[in-house]
Amino acid sequence: MKFHRPFRHPRTTKYISIHTGLCEACWNCLEVCPNQVLGKLEFGPHRHIRIHASENCKGCKKCVEACPHHAIEYVYKSKHQLEAQAI
Ligand code: SF4
Ligand code: SF4
Repeated sequence: MKFHRPFRHPRTTKYISIHTGLCEACWNCLEVCPNQVLGKLEFGPHRHIRIHASENCKGCKKCVEACPHHAIEYVYKSKHQLEAQAI
């Protein structure tokens, strides 16, 4: 039997980072994401958003804007920005 480990999910995509401690499980972000990146984690008292398919994230920020609890942060930095910071 395959053991389900609910907390072993990535918390980032190339563009966003999820702060699960701030998530109130309203599912707003899940509803607005056009690319089915996000999913629900519902395991006993633990309810929060999770990354379902990080490779599908296009960085549109709809989830960031839809979250009333600031639980999703836009973290993408372009290659140019990263090079400038390294100088
Ligand atoms: S940035 Fe856009 S594509 Fe990526 S998870 Fe958020 S809503 Fe979905
Ligand atoms: S919109 Fe924010 S609070 Fe609501 S499920 Fe998404 S991350 Fe959690």
